[in-house]
Amino acid sequence: MVDIEKASAAMKMFLEAIGEDPNREGLKETPMRVAKMYNELTAGYDDCPQEHLKKVFSVENSELVIVKDIEFFSLCEHHLLPFFGKVHIAYIPEEKVVGLSKLARCVETFARRLQIQEKMTTQIANTIDETLKPIGIMVVVEAEHTCMTMRGIKKVGSSTVTFATRGKFKEDSNLRKEVLDLIKC
Ligand SMILES: [Zn+2]
Repeated sequence: MVDIEKASAAMKMFLEAIGEDPNREGLKETPMRVAKMYNELTAGYDDCPQEHLKKVFSVENSELVIVKDIEFFSLCEHHLLPFFGKVHIAYIPEEKVVGLSKLARCVETFARRLQIQEKMTTQIANTIDETLKPIGIMVVVEAEHTCMTMRGIKKVGSSTVTFATRGKFKEDSNLRKEVLDLIKC
């Protein structure tokens, strides 16, 4: 939970620091607005990702499940600028599967924190691995970082792809290839 009063005061100071007048008409409400916005954008700290994966269904077969194109928005912890894109999750269940929307909720929990893409990818894979204990899991995240496209090297349209594999996906390169073909990444 963001300390709205503290964040709002800090934002007012920040506006002064960049040479703005925080009391001018257009900016009067901005510190409070920004504080409330960060409360929403960092709501993942108060959310438990494992909780979302608790409700499982039993299955008899162990066939590949792929949930692709889970959209997310996050904030890079180095610049507090957005990075956004898609998460693809592939796993081979060991008797237990989870509702598809729950995987998206799990992604959301980690995205709504100050993040780096590599860490987020690992956290998603670890959480699903520990909770569902599947035969294998692979998480692919592709994202555009506005700290790369708006500033610095200004590589518009460039995307960063990160992977995390656990279990069978670690050993089996054909399986990884099959997943990458299916998600066309
Ligand atoms: Zn950054």
